[in-house]
Amino acid sequence: MPKRKISLLGATGSIGQQTLDLIRKAPSIYSLEACAAAGNNLEAFVQIIEEFQPKLVSIASASKADELYKALGSQIKNKIQIIHGQASLKDIASFPFSDTVILGLVGALGLESALTALNHGKRTIFANKEPLVMAGNLIREALKNNEKAILIPADSEHVALHQCLQGQKPDKVNNLYLTASGGPFWNDKTLDFDSIKPSQALKHPTWQMGNKITIDSATLMNKGLEVIEAYSLFEIPYDKIQVLIHPQSLVHSMVEFIDGHVLAQLGANDMRLVLQYALDYPNREPNLINKFLNWKEINKLEFFEPDLERFKCLKLAYWAGKYAQTYTACLVAADEIAVELFLQEKIKFSQIPDLIEEVLRKHSAQEPKTLEIIQKADQWARKQAMTLYKEKYI
Ligand code: MG
Repeated sequence: MPKRKISLLGATGSIGQQTLDLIRKAPSIYSLEACAAAGNNLEAFVQIIEEFQPKLVSIASASKADELYKALGSQIKNKIQIIHGQASLKDIASFPFSDTVILGLVGALGLESALTALNHGKRTIFANKEPLVMAGNLIREALKNNEKAILIPADSEHVALHQCLQGQKPDKVNNLYLTASGGPFWNDKTLDFDSIKPSQALKHPTWQMGNKITIDSATLMNKGLEVIEAYSLFEIPYDKIQVLIHPQSLVHSMVEFIDGHVLAQLGANDMRLVLQYALDYPNREPNLINKFLNWKEINKLEFFEPDLERFKCLKLAYWAGKYAQTYTACLVAADEIAVELFLQEKIKFSQIPDLIEEVLRKHSAQEPKTLEIIQKADQWARKQAMTLYKEKYI
């Protein structure tokens, strides 16, 4: 397999750290050429730079860039270039020494970098689903216009679907089944959603992930965003995308074809396996973390229908996906604000979908023809969510 020269966006986050672990384990097939981090965890960023010695690094602001420069050892600081600000993410995504871009940023921030990476013909690994949710049409267009560009999801469900769908056209699909662990609350029918504290919602039963996505898993918004992500990637109509709660999280998703045959993908629950698939595709290389399923220990695989009345975020996501336009961008933006407010204990768990729904209702949607239109909708929804919060929830 040719060496993958990597630009990593979101180096200190959960995806970033797990990617670095793979690079550490296989330096002969992967290398870190460039990376970006906000700089909130400067110590971790310094360690990454010293260990992997990328050529180019991006950090959020000029003051953070100064701090970073001071914190680096004298030998390293002369070898690397430090750039800063949101626009510098595009330089990381288009870095000429990299052929692979991993999008591991949180939320909407990765959209511009995603388009930049595709427009520069990179293997673009979407570990960050929001760009596909907000701007599926622009991403598909960029992919079509750039022959060298490859788009690979790095979301466990979509990596499953990517494998099951190999060689098949959308019209051969009867149903896509996206599985969900259900998060910590799906099975407690008497639980009062008003009483849930952030610390409870941050306890995910199976996957180790960042805070935003862990809360999204507890509300099932993560699954809702994944429904839209699946549509964006595979162009299967929404009425053929089903969600199943599967507490064991071993079947990562399934495809039912029109002839009644079903293909499922199973594997150990570790993001590094998902990232390794995306990095190696279409090759299959030895499992770098040596994790395999032990079939003797698997005695059940259960599947349940989600309760859309209790988990309103999933319902809202189907709604936004079907009406498309700029609604999906608003959904992502409003959800980011709502989750942040919940984490700060400013709104209740039950108010997350309420706030998002109100933002969607107030939105005058447009055709998402350009990045600017999508970014405007995103900004509008963030502002609207804060306004509604101040009016109704304080
Ligand atoms: Mg997922």
